[in-house]
Formats: sequence, structure tokens, C-alpha cells
Amino acid sequence: MTKISTQVLICPNCQTKTTFKKYDSINATLEPKLKEQLLTGELFTFTCPDCQTKATVLYDLLYTDVKQKLLIQYVADEKNLAQARQNISQALLAAHQLSDQDLLADGYEIRYTADPGALREKIMLRDEKIDDRIVELMKYILLTQQEIDYDQVLFERKAPGQLELVATKGDQIIANAPFSYDFYNELNKMFASHLKERPSNVDQTYARKFYTN
Ligand SMILES: [Zn+2]
Repeated sequence: MTKISTQVLICPNCQTKTTFKKYDSINATLEPKLKEQLLTGELFTFTCPDCQTKATVLYDLLYTDVKQKLLIQYVADEKNLAQARQNISQALLAAHQLSDQDLLADGYEIRYTADPGALREKIMLRDEKIDDRIVELMKYILLTQQEIDYDQVLFERKAPGQLELVATKGDQIIANAPFSYDFYNELNKMFASHLKERPSNVDQTYARKFYTN
């Protein structure tokens, strides 16, 4: 179900008051347009109706795609991650008599993140049928082999089927590493037997643990 709340925002440029729509939860299967707006960043962008000034507004958002069997809770403040995880589990049980384990058994992937880039990335990866655990391992290999001064590395899809990893610092792109499905499939084969766990936090911390264990 798509759930919306509102917040009054004051334009940082002209001080006009505007009501901003926040999508607390999105059902991407029923409303693919909202999914697109999430991927373009529109849902997290405030545009002043008077002076057109734009600003990023981050807020908690639960993304559900029944068709792709994907559930992602994004929280704007990392401190709220653990609580969000508990809330979702309880809500699932109360509304559908389902536990996290039931969902996993049904083929769902459940993710929690405090990174808006990761939210977008994980939605695209699921579309491309790519395992985000492999992508985090791929990033880890690349990053530990090269001395790049970066803030973040994220998966990008230039066009359907055109895959790459993009390293950024601030607004600047520092490096791109295109990769093919063949390369991904090779890695997948290599790691498959080691990827029994299905954690809900799949990031560089996960990858580091995987390699150091
Ligand atoms: Zn304005």
C-alpha cells in the first residue's frame, strides 16, 4: 500500500511555505510511476513552486515490490535502523501472520539501509536479476586493489543491460568500471557455495566480513 504524509517546508531561497509530500511507503508493483520517481530522485526532491529552487529532502520510506519480491526499508537517520527493522517485522506478523523467515522462504529479499544511493541501487539490481551480495564483493575487490580517494561506489545502469560501478567523491565521478553479465555470472559461480546467508544489511561492512572470515 502506498502511504503518504505531508510536511510544510520553507523554501531556503524565497521563504515561501509549501506542503511537501512524503511517501512513507510505496507499492512499486501497483504504482510503477512512483518507482521511477524514486529512481530519478524526484521523490526526495523539493521544488519551490514560486522560485523553482530545488533541495533534497530525505525521509524514511518502505519500498515494496511484490512482483520482484523485494522489500527495502530506507531510514534517513542511521540511528533508526534497528528500530525500523523491528517495526517492519512486527507489522508483517500483525497484518499477514508472516515472519521475516517466511518471506525469505518465499523468495523475498529484505534490505534495510540508511543510504539513499543504496536504496536506488538495490531496486535497479533486482530489476537486472543481479545479487547485491555479489556486487558488494565486486566493489570490495575493486576498492582494495586500487588507491582511489572516493566517498562511495554504486552500481549504475546506463541503459538496460549496460552495467557499471561508479566511484564518486562529492558530486564528481572519479572512476567507472563497466562489467558484463558474463563477469557477474563468473563471480556468482565462484561465490555461490559461500553465499548461504541472506542478511538484510548488504553493504561494504558485509563484504569486509565475508573476506576476513
Ligand atoms: Zn522559493
